[in-house]
Amino acid sequence: MEKIRVRFAPSPTGALHIGGVRTALYNYLFAKQHGGDMLLRIEDTDSNRFVPGAEDYIIESLNWLGIKIDEGVGVGGDCAPYRQSERKHIYRQYVDQLLDAGLAYIAFDTPEELEQKRTEIQNFQYDAKTRMQMTNSLTLSAEEVNMRIERGDVYVVRIKIEPDEDVTVDDLIRGEVIINSSVLDDKVLYKSADSLPTYHLANVVDDYLMKISHVIRGEEWLPSAPLHVLLYRSLGWEKEMPRFAHLPLLLKPDGNGKLSKRDGDRLGFPIFPLNWKDPKSGETSSGYREAGYFPEAVVNFLALLGWNPGTEQEIFSMQELIDAFSLDRVSKSGAKFDYEKGKWFNHKYLQMKPNEEIASLFAETLKEKGLDADMPTLIKIVSLVKERVNFVNELWEQSYFFFEAPASYDEKTVQKRWKENTPAQMDELIGVLEGIDDFSAENTENVVKAWIESKQYNLGGIMNAFRLSVVGAPKGPHMFDITAILGKAETISRLKKAIATIKQ
Ligand code: GLU
Repeated sequence: MEKIRVRFAPSPTGALHIGGVRTALYNYLFAKQHGGDMLLRIEDTDSNRFVPGAEDYIIESLNWLGIKIDEGVGVGGDCAPYRQSERKHIYRQYVDQLLDAGLAYIAFDTPEELEQKRTEIQNFQYDAKTRMQMTNSLTLSAEEVNMRIERGDVYVVRIKIEPDEDVTVDDLIRGEVIINSSVLDDKVLYKSADSLPTYHLANVVDDYLMKISHVIRGEEWLPSAPLHVLLYRSLGWEKEMPRFAHLPLLLKPDGNGKLSKRDGDRLGFPIFPLNWKDPKSGETSSGYREAGYFPEAVVNFLALLGWNPGTEQEIFSMQELIDAFSLDRVSKSGAKFDYEKGKWFNHKYLQMKPNEEIASLFAETLKEKGLDADMPTLIKIVSLVKERVNFVNELWEQSYFFFEAPASYDEKTVQKRWKENTPAQMDELIGVLEGIDDFSAENTENVVKAWIESKQYNLGGIMNAFRLSVVGAPKGPHMFDITAILGKAETISRLKKAIATIKQ
């Protein structure tokens, strides 16, 4: 069997969109499942749209997510170079091959002339119906064409699409997609101005030369696929044509239409894998990494946006995804970008990670605040509060009271829980706590509850005031887990402070 070879072929026009990340992921999963190769090719033939830093950004994003490249930019390989701008010398011969076979032609129309046509003819399209009215090698004599080229007129080479033919794109997700060639235009394949092919030609030539077996890409490229099929045929490579699979769109979380950066801004979620600073505007857009997502969670989340395993399983490691993935189970219809589900995945991965790992990450946050706690304590704290958070950067909000005594006391709780006799009871509680040697959660709880019972105090009343004194608010894990970590001296000191400070 032929070797499976897929490619991720982004254009370095800015930050990689999360939809592009999913495309890369599906290519990777497919390749790895079949023991194949994953290539990275940079499609940078459109110099007008080139954005510095975009290529590095793409590579860093893939690295972060654990999408490993076997061959291509940054790695090398037998088909190098993998940046199309460095492959200039390769494409011209295929342009000539098409010209010689009469399957393409040279066109001199200036932008102004084309604009003029657009105003004259409604829905103007450069094709079989209009090409004979234009300035090209089909309408000019051979001498005229040569003369123009020699004097340096800029020109483009266009594919000559024969009208009225049904072109079939055999898509692994969509089945046979049939397009009548009459709707296609004579796309530009090559521009003399920069001696560079356009996306269409470079894409097809490189897929052929790099022995790509499967083209897995976003649905937005489906309209280009019939042209690519025709190019394969025109170049005599029909037998080597890759199989196509066009992935469903990612849709807005709410309403209709394609997911856009604005949806992320509007609803507050990142649309890029990493933070991205636009070199032109200087504007920074947030990324999943900096927002505190684990790469495994992002991978898991994206894998299920458009593909489903056919079972109830939701949590998948990369290896499990590789084993379970199949293009058959990729849906044809768009996938709603449910970013709340993304948070849910992060929550799940946070729970699954060893407390030691989360504690080390949390230690960095604490360091920034000038705090440091010993590892065993931090691990204990993490184990007590992690269930309440989706992200490491939410741990502080759930645990700050382990590190600092309350600076103020929640007003509503004071009104509700701090009764006239509370200070006296808290004072009594201090006495009880002072008598305890084993300050473990279990023992302290037993002693304190026995005291409450012996005094016939109201359990809720005492415990709520105790919590208010120690935490400052009606929140946090089990009270005696907190006091066990704080220790006897700190617990008592906080009770004293509360008695002195809280006024009804
Ligand atoms: N360069 C195209 C892009 O930026 C690649 C499309 C394809 O994969 O064929 O998405």
